[in-house]
Amino acid sequence: MIVVMRSGVDREAVRAVVARLEALGFAAHLSEGKERTVIGAIGDRSVLEAASLEAMPGVERLVPIRQPFKLASREFQRESTVVKVGGVPVGGDGVVVIAGPCAVESREQLMATAAAVKAGGAHMLRGGAFKPRSSPYTFQGMEEEGLRILAEARERFGLPIVTEVMSPEAVELVAEYADCLQIGTRNMQNFQLLREAGRSRRPVLLKRGMAATVQEWLMAAEYVLSEGNRQVILCERGIRTFETSTRNTLDLNAVPVAKELSHLPVIVDPSHGTGRAALVTPLSRAAVAAGADGLILEVHPNPAEALSDGVQSLTPPDFERLMVQLARVAEAVGRQMEPVAPAGPAQVRVRVEAD
Ligand code: PEP
Ligand code: MN
Repeated sequence: MIVVMRSGVDREAVRAVVARLEALGFAAHLSEGKERTVIGAIGDRSVLEAASLEAMPGVERLVPIRQPFKLASREFQRESTVVKVGGVPVGGDGVVVIAGPCAVESREQLMATAAAVKAGGAHMLRGGAFKPRSSPYTFQGMEEEGLRILAEARERFGLPIVTEVMSPEAVELVAEYADCLQIGTRNMQNFQLLREAGRSRRPVLLKRGMAATVQEWLMAAEYVLSEGNRQVILCERGIRTFETSTRNTLDLNAVPVAKELSHLPVIVDPSHGTGRAALVTPLSRAAVAAGADGLILEVHPNPAEALSDGVQSLTPPDFERLMVQLARVAEAVGRQMEPVAPAGPAQVRVRVEAD
């Protein structure tokens, strides 16, 4: 249930409603929007209906949330959420691009890629230090050393970093280095991990499970939100279907569907969504045209030698060409690419301290 307060209501009235909800055994989530203040009340609805909350000063009306995901739903919050990752807004008017290698392989490889994606106009740098590989015999990632290299690239290029965390125990460590915690498709329903990420102060990029419905995906987001972390970015990365000509089937329906159901930003990963570099450019264009708030793309200076996902990695020149096209697609659908911060570490340092 949502308690909608009258516009211009004073703080005291809001505090009294929150106290009453808590006394009734509800979790109260305050949301102070531009238009008005609303309080999300999670708990037994019949208790609330009997409590005549409408009679309290400042209360305008009670609105039931029909969806099973509450905090993630548009019914709870009409305005779109803008998640700030190291100062870069995701979910506003600007389209953002996160780019980098599948995995951090070495200092040289990461710095070369970071330089290339920065030059191409990327807003953030991606790179896995803990890799969820399908085979235990393949490269598993550089772990903490990889995180240190990512942090160094952030300082050098002024790019916030997005990197995967695979277990609840590793959240604290990864959050020390990363600007945004990526939760991978294989972990979308690792509820312990979701809860731990929800307790962290870092934004969370939540990939859709490869066999998850949009509702299950939003329920996973709800786990993070319900722990008090409201900074969740949803990421469509392709699902399993009967089709075998691509690695996954990129479900672009999910973009407008998720945006209709939820106020959270939605980005798309056409690298894992297609599994082939040649398909990444057309599907990136399509994702932006479909209303995605951003993209996450794999880029490698030498895809033929990549330790993971080389087949689907763009080369730096491919990436540069794509970025030019994306600006035109964004404009065609009434948006623009998010302006890029100038190179250099200064503003990143200020942002790290402000977090
Ligand atoms: C990745 O981003 O490198 C990755 C492993 O993604 P996913 O979880 O979508 O497979
Ligand atoms: Mn990958």
